[in-house]
Amino acid sequence: MTGVLLKNCAAVIVDHGNGAEVLRDVDLLTEGPAIQAIRSNLSAPGATAKDASGWFIYPGLVNTHHHFFQTFVRNRADLDWTKLSLIEWLDLIYPIFSRLTEDCFYHSSLTAMSELIKHGCTTAMDHQYCFPRHAGKRLIDRQFEAAERLGLRFHAGRGGNTLPKSEGSTIPDEMLETTDEFIADCERIIDAYHEPGRFSMRQVVVAPCQPVNCYKDTMVQSVALARDKGVVLHTHVGEGESLVMEARTGQRTVAYLENMDFAGNDTFYAHCWELTQDELTSLAASGTGVSHCPEPVYLVGAEITDIPAMDALGVRVSLGADGAASNDNSNLMHCIHSAYMLQCLAASKRNDPVPAPATFLDYATKGGASALGRDDIGRLAPGMAADLFAIDTRRMEYVGTRHDPLSLIPKVGIGRPTDMTMINGQIVWESGAFTNVDEDSLFRGAEQALSILET
Ligand SMILES: [Zn+2]
Repeated sequence: MTGVLLKNCAAVIVDHGNGAEVLRDVDLLTEGPAIQAIRSNLSAPGATAKDASGWFIYPGLVNTHHHFFQTFVRNRADLDWTKLSLIEWLDLIYPIFSRLTEDCFYHSSLTAMSELIKHGCTTAMDHQYCFPRHAGKRLIDRQFEAAERLGLRFHAGRGGNTLPKSEGSTIPDEMLETTDEFIADCERIIDAYHEPGRFSMRQVVVAPCQPVNCYKDTMVQSVALARDKGVVLHTHVGEGESLVMEARTGQRTVAYLENMDFAGNDTFYAHCWELTQDELTSLAASGTGVSHCPEPVYLVGAEITDIPAMDALGVRVSLGADGAASNDNSNLMHCIHSAYMLQCLAASKRNDPVPAPATFLDYATKGGASALGRDDIGRLAPGMAADLFAIDTRRMEYVGTRHDPLSLIPKVGIGRPTDMTMINGQIVWESGAFTNVDEDSLFRGAEQALSILET
């Protein structure tokens, strides 16, 4: 694999492990999957040289929570959160999910992954918990196929639900699996796809959908399997179910999970907006991470997650786009801006200082790497993965903003795709086109797969 030499970068966000710093007017050289050097006056005969004048180079974004299959239910007035109760919404959306075919999962994944890559995401974790019986068990396999087609670094969260509605869940029978089925398929895809090594492009996360919709045994066996295989654990926590769990089990969700050891440095939870200070302290003590998804907060009207409190306690914070059922875009760069704006609103209501904008770029990069248990992605330095994106700032919308590259995305926001996205040393998106695939054929395939929901 030959390298790429980015010449005369206007700014590179570099981090040697001691915090991000901005280097101006430097070159960046990759070799194979990794960054080889970042400094002035590099030369590398044989490398593909690119003029990066005016480019700001950022570490690739790491999306830690999504539901790609929901991409096929976007922008529908009949599913508008603001007009429906949760129960009404669930009663409308599950019959739609139950019609999805294996092809739908493949093409909805390509759709979400494409938008993520265009907006600087280089690693994504998808929480795929929807397994309609008629669609079969090869849905995660097709997601790995989609990720490989686009060149995305992909962590597959193998989700699932086991508790029937008759015992208190919200999941129709058509979508349920037994614990044995769920665990067996987790084990199958770990053995088939999980690559634990440095610069791995494929990993598996054991991710039962949420405790409120699973038998306790499902959660307990998930812990045992993940620890046995050395993979990360994930589930939904603190998104409105804590009192339901307390009434059912005598414990709120965090205590329920901690008692079964579904917590630790190898575990992260999505959302966590309703956690108490004591529960956040427990997360910090156990090392359990959080995927904060800011955009559903606007739509669902949930309380604003107290991110500064998590940060102050030392909870590992990352960012997720979340599924398109509660956020109609798959744009993590947009979520950095949203998360920052949301926390500014919350801080001003509390009379607290506004958080530093650059912190939100950290959540979406180093925070994501930490959540996924990786030390080879999330920051730019020699020896780290060559996962990065470029913004050509020589445009009118950036006039007056270029003095602070660290705050540009959180504070100003970026309203367009990147000029280049590189993953594992490969340029996968450049100058408005994918380098390995024809966007028109992706588009036509996805529209055709989607059409089954229109009949
Ligand atoms: Zn979710």
